[in-house]
Amino acid sequence: MLPLAHVGITLFFAKHFKPVHLPLLATAVFSVLPDLIDKPLYLLGMAPTSRFIAHTVWFGIALALMCIAFFPRQTRVPLAVAALVGSWFHLALDLNSPLPLFFPLVSFDFTSQVGLSLSFDAATIMFELIGFCALLLVVLESD
Ligand SMILES: [Zn+2]
Repeated sequence: MLPLAHVGITLFFAKHFKPVHLPLLATAVFSVLPDLIDKPLYLLGMAPTSRFIAHTVWFGIALALMCIAFFPRQTRVPLAVAALVGSWFHLALDLNSPLPLFFPLVSFDFTSQVGLSLSFDAATIMFELIGFCALLLVVLESD
């Protein structure tokens, strides 16, 4: 999946179905962070595929724990929730192919994965358009 879908769809849900008031900019960054980490790791030869350690559920939990540990009391909970929402929505939107969700606790066959998949099929374009529309709604609804 491409960035517009990740950011747009995640922000739309973060804005409308929030348990706490989520910082939207941080949520947007967390929603693309798995790709910003794993794809460069793959290109540098440090990961077997472009969906590696940042495409696990543990990554979101680690991000949330770091937010709780390193940010001031007033912002730590909203940032931790934003980390979970952003990174887990990323995983949900990437489920068009197998992900190493529970790696390394559950083994995963990385050899079945393509390296850097940048496909522009109909489904990808449709999700990008949905993401663009969702992002547009979030921006237009902003105060
Ligand atoms: Zn991804």
